[in-house]
Amino acid sequence: MELTPIVAGNWKMHKTPKDGHSFVEKTTNLLLEINHVSVIFAPPFTGLFDIDVQPPFYLAAQNCHWEEQGAYTGEISVAMIRDCSAEYVILGHSERRHVFGETDNWINRKVIAVLAGGLKPILCIGETLDQREAGETDLVLKNQLEQGLAEVESLQNIVIAYEPVWAIGTGVTATINQVESAHESVRGILKEIFPDSNDIHVLYGGSVKPANAEELIQVPGVNGFLIGGASLDVESFTSITRTVETVQKRNL
Ligand code: PEP
Repeated sequence: MELTPIVAGNWKMHKTPKDGHSFVEKTTNLLLEINHVSVIFAPPFTGLFDIDVQPPFYLAAQNCHWEEQGAYTGEISVAMIRDCSAEYVILGHSERRHVFGETDNWINRKVIAVLAGGLKPILCIGETLDQREAGETDLVLKNQLEQGLAEVESLQNIVIAYEPVWAIGTGVTATINQVESAHESVRGILKEIFPDSNDIHVLYGGSVKPANAEELIQVPGVNGFLIGGASLDVESFTSITRTVETVQKRNL
């Protein structure tokens, strides 16, 4: 079955709830014609509250804790996120891994908690520049997938985002060949771990913008984007979404 592409905007630590509400209202009004793309907004936690979106628009949190509740100052549970009507949770983003020191083991606990709570993890994986230059890209992806998905029974409800760390927020986009080859590796690794699972979404992330969206969305194995910087601007985000919609319609 053909997968509906996903365009997900990771706002990181940007936009107050008021700014977020206004952004979502403007964007959804401009994208009324969209019906071949799932569009996900991932505001900071405060922006998830009291915001109403209907398919093909969805909400995602940018992180969560794996415990249901307790003495975890500063953390948010899956149930709290679900209560805000979010359907997705971004996990293992490179900033969580590299700025906040999240380990694959933590990320794995979060993946399990998100699935158990009936939400969908968007598991981010990707190599650093040093790892790429050392020829370790495939090994890094394999380790992150094996460890991040340990004890997970199937790929159902899981989205993977391949985001080379060196391309995030830098303006440097991976080349078409690099993206294609990494996505092929990701699918190969997933097939090894889950031989019986159906195909799943593997998104690309790393300096996606209106100018490169058409080329990137046509790379074999790319089922959509996780976007940082360009997701903060109504014009860029709607333009990328329309591009993905147009290419998807053309391919049907
Ligand atoms: C991201 O934060 O996931 C990301 C891909 O950022 P940017 O699009 O700004 O590179």
